[in-house]
Amino acid sequence: MISEPSLSCEHLLKAAVARIQGDSPRLDAELLLHHVTGLSRTSFRAWPEREVTAEQAAQFADLLAERVNGKPIAYLLGQQEFWSLPLNVSPSTLIPRPDTECLVEAALSLGLPEHSAVLDLGTGTGAIALALASEKQDWQIMASDRIIDAVELARANSAALNLPITVLQSHWFAQLPDVRFDLLVSNPPYIPASDRHLSEGGVRFEPSSALVAGDDGLDDIRLLISEGLNWLNDGGWMLLEHGYDQSEAVRHLFTKAGWHKVETRKDYGGNDRMTLA
Ligand code: GLN
Repeated sequence: MISEPSLSCEHLLKAAVARIQGDSPRLDAELLLHHVTGLSRTSFRAWPEREVTAEQAAQFADLLAERVNGKPIAYLLGQQEFWSLPLNVSPSTLIPRPDTECLVEAALSLGLPEHSAVLDLGTGTGAIALALASEKQDWQIMASDRIIDAVELARANSAALNLPITVLQSHWFAQLPDVRFDLLVSNPPYIPASDRHLSEGGVRFEPSSALVAGDDGLDDIRLLISEGLNWLNDGGWMLLEHGYDQSEAVRHLFTKAGWHKVETRKDYGGNDRMTLA
């Protein structure tokens, strides 16, 4: 007699953990099983022999195959937490990174006045704009993206979280209305086209439009710095994320374009990750 494959949670999780590469195989497996069954992760420990349906096991197997192939867990779940906000993500947008939360902290530390007008350029999921909206109800927050799928996703996240922001489709400044801002903030693409990092790990599943910026990775940053002053109110700030090894080049670009008070700040890993001016 051939025995049926076990449908117990613990059996499925153990088999999955043995196959998943990465930092957190057990967590990934639990998140995927929670995603297809709706069962809580604590229940997998409390009741390991509990069985799922054959259909759920099949769905779990499909997601697991994609995870084993390297697809980021955030794309499989369709969700990523940023600034404690559950954001929907899609393969048309970058997965928000914890280090970008430092950009939000830096923006909040500037002491901007009440009712400040803020623009998040290249917003993707809407992460930065929504994090700021969750902290500053009186700010007028706008977000833009060149990609319509991102615009729609950011709008959907704004509605789902009940955090009002205005999301517009625009290639950087090109299609913006004639308004001025107190803060321009962006996590633009900044990886050099030849970087090996792009073909490794989960990054290869993310859109190159959100990652790659010319031969030196500075094409978009150059544009933002050269045009940004035209979009700022007096005393306004620009705050840009960049690569850990780009701070000197970015500082130089800001200074050459006539910006003042240029300052580099670090991310959680202690790397130079953003410059403000
Ligand atoms: N920090 C991201 C990475 O290294 C890149 C983000 C970006 O290009 N804006 O994968």
